[in-house]
Formats: sequence, C-alpha cells, structure tokens
Amino acid sequence: MGSLRGGSGGEGRNEDGGKVGLPALEVALAFPQATPASLFPPAVSDYYQLDDLLTNEEKALRKKVRAISEKEIAPIMTEYWEKAEFPFHAIPKLATLGLAGSTTKGYGCPGLSLTASAVSIAEVARVDASCSTFILVHSSLAMSTIALCGSEAQKQKYLPSLAQFKTVGCWALTEPDYGSDASSLKTSATKVPGGWQLDGQKRWIGNSTFADVLVILARNADTKQLNGFIVKKGAPGLRATKIQNKIGLRMVQNGDILLNKVFVPEEDRLTGINSFQDISKVLAMSRIMVAWQPIGISMGVYDMCHRYLKERKQFGAPLAAFQLNQEKLVRMLGNIQAMLLVGWRLCKLYESGKMTPGHASLGKAWTSSKSREVVSLGRELLGGNGILADFLVAKRSAIWSRFTRMRAPMTSTAW
Ligand SMILES: Cc1cc2nc3c(=O)[nH]c(=O)nc-3n(C[C@H](O)[C@H](O)[C@H](O)COP(=O)(O)OP(=O)(O)OC[C@H]3O[C@@H](n4cnc5c(N)ncnc54)[C@H](O)[C@@H]3O)c2cc1C
Repeated sequence: MGSLRGGSGGEGRNEDGGKVGLPALEVALAFPQATPASLFPPAVSDYYQLDDLLTNEEKALRKKVRAISEKEIAPIMTEYWEKAEFPFHAIPKLATLGLAGSTTKGYGCPGLSLTASAVSIAEVARVDASCSTFILVHSSLAMSTIALCGSEAQKQKYLPSLAQFKTVGCWALTEPDYGSDASSLKTSATKVPGGWQLDGQKRWIGNSTFADVLVILARNADTKQLNGFIVKKGAPGLRATKIQNKIGLRMVQNGDILLNKVFVPEEDRLTGINSFQDISKVLAMSRIMVAWQPIGISMGVYDMCHRYLKERKQFGAPLAAFQLNQEKLVRMLGNIQAMLLVGWRLCKLYESGKMTPGHASLGKAWTSSKSREVVSLGRELLGGNGILADFLVAKRSAIWSRFTRMRAPMTSTAW
C-alpha cells in the first residue's frame, strides 16, 4: 500500500485516492463522558459576584451577551477555528450583541459605559477569543479612531453602518519592520492634488482581508508626523492577503497589506490625527478591552474545566474528587477573582479620568500573565482532550503571541 495522506472530511486516503479510514466520530459519540464546548458550560467562575459592582444596565448587557455568545457563537467556533475561516453568516448574530461603537454616543452607536463594554467583551472571549478579537478590532480600534479623530462628516458617513456590522472595519498600525516600535512606522502619505497618496506595507492587520473600511496610519512626507486615513475596500493599489499558518486566534483573518500609490481623497483624511500622541486616546481605551480579553478567556477555561472534572471519571470517581485537581481549580479561580477586580478598577480609573497609560499597560500585562497560568492549568486538567479545540482549552493555549507586546508595557507603543 502507498503512503498515507490526509483527505477531506477527516478521511485518510492512500496515494491512489482510495479510502483507508472512516470519518472522525462526532466528539459526543467518541468521548461520551464529557460534554464538548459547543454546548457551553454554566458560568461558575465569577465566584466573588462581580455583578454587585455593576449598574443594572451593565448587568443586563452582560447577561444578554453571555446568552447570545453561548447560544450562537459556541456551537460554530470549533469548525471555523479548525478551518481558519471567518463565519460570515454569524455577523448578523454578532450585531445583535449591540457592542459595536462601544462608548460612542450618537451615529447609531450604543453609548455604553466603558465598564459595560469591557465586561461584555470578556463575555464574548469567555466563549471564543477569535470572536472577541474580531469585535475589538472593528469597534475599539477602527470605529473608536473615527469617533475620536474623525470629522463630523466622517462620523456620519461611516459609523452608522459599522455600528450595525453592515460594514466591517480594520485598523492598520503595525508594519513588518515596526511592531512594538510602531511609532517609527514608515508607510508614507504624500500630498497630491485632491488628496493623498499612500505607499507602504502593513502586517498582522485583523479583518483586513475583507474589511470595507480600512483605517490606515501613515507618516506625512512633509511634516514627518503620523496621520490617519480611511481607505475603502477595492481602492486601486490596495492589496490585502491573509497570513497563513497561524496557530492562535485562527478564525481572525490577519492580513498583510500592500499600499502601492493608493489615492485617498482629502475628505477621507482623519483630521484629528496629526501626531502619534493623537491616537493615544484610542490606544488607552483599546488596551482596557485587551486587558479584559484574558479575563474572559480564563473564565471560559475555568467553567469548562469545572464541568469536565465533574463529568469525567477515572479510578471510579469524578476527576473533581481528587485533591490534586481541586488545588489546580482553586489556583485558577483565585486568579480569576483577582483579574476581575483589577479589570473593574481599570474601568473605574478610566471613567473617572484618572487612568494613565501605565495603569492600562500594567493591567494588560498582569491579566495576560495570570491568564497564561489559568490556561496552562486547564490544559493539564483535561488530559488528552486538553489539545482538542472541541474542549476549548486548546484554542486558548496558542493565542499568547497576540499579547507579546505586554512584556514591554511601559515602552511599547502598539495597541
Ligand atoms: C493575532 C494578532 C492580531 C493583531 N492585530 C493587529 C491589528 O489589527 N492592527 C495592528 O496594527 N496590529 C495588529 N497586530 C500586531 C501587534 O500589534 C504586534 O504583533 C505587536 O505590536 C508586537 O509586535 P511584533 O509582533 O512585531 O513583535 P516585536 O516588536 O518584534 O517584539 C518581539 C518581542 O520583543 C519584545 N520587545 C519589543 N520591544 C521591547 C523592548 N523595548 N524591551 C523589551 N522587550 C521588547 C516584545 O514584547 C516581544 O516579546 C496583531 C498581532 C497579532 C499577533
């Protein structure tokens, strides 16, 4: 028999294309003792009852986002994570969350409190971190930049359809040669009659392969300062290609962008961005959202492990009956309570106008480091199933490259 190679639909095939195996069993049939994450576990990770610190509106939104995430997002995510594709059919469901536009008031945006936004993004991340990243890039980066740095006409033109997810946004700061050191970026913006010409390259840009509205940050060739531009999908000279072989956040479509003499009319220059400092208010808010993602991720992992350990039996008892496993659950749960309180305090500092970039960076760095510990413990608790996306924890173990900039919290300029 010839050598084996993988076939479509989970079937093994030999060199002649003949079938040599059967399709993979449904996970519920193959492993009947534990429920997969497509049926999301009950929330048991909020042990110190964060709800008591929230307003009635924030509590109600949290509950709504949790219910929609569990019902609409959880069942489809393993498949799209495995295929590394974006579930376009889920966009209308994501729109019903009512999160796009976050704290922006008017222009069809929800005008949420920052706490409501943060707690909600954690609820989405609890079920799927790719999904929360998609929303974060669209809302907290692309939309927030237009809301905070755009003209009245730009806000009226772009925000209403972005708020309803009728159009999707992306936000392009990072370049191949400038990651943490993003303020040194080289993409150029040259003044030409009627507008600007953009030339350069961007990398890692979430949603960029299909975004309708691309917020591009570039260096003004005359002033040498940072400027911002709105580029529309299909603009001549614009090319966005998907970064392949990503092992984390696989559903997020991160792209390389090439800008070759892309013309941007004057009306699409974001007049509020005249130096790197001008996007610091966008970065400050987005960093809080990013700090809440590891909180949501950890909550989901704990909830998953809690149910799994009660369902899975070895040596005649549920795994939860063994003290070694209980000790790991306790460490996970303790970390999550501390993370929730740090995240909450960060929101309050921001809302009272007292938050510094250091506060946000420390929060982001600390929640991500504690979350690594939670996910790593969760990976141990699930045994072999700890590396299957069906049981959630595996999807979380590989996302940390996304948070690497947190190791240089005070020096990094990237979001
Ligand atoms: C999944 C994903 C999604 C992303 N989405 C977007 C997006 O939508 N838009 C966008 O513009 N960008 C996006 N990025 C890019 C992201 O902002 C960068 O990856 C990040 O800024 C880090 O840059 P880098 O990967 O080039 O790492 P580098 O800057 O090369 O850093 C490598 C390592 O060195 C450390 N390091 C760097 N400088 C210092 C220092 N001075 N002192 C000590 N340590 C240091 C870093 O912490 C890191 O551990 C995304 C990245 C990922 C992985």
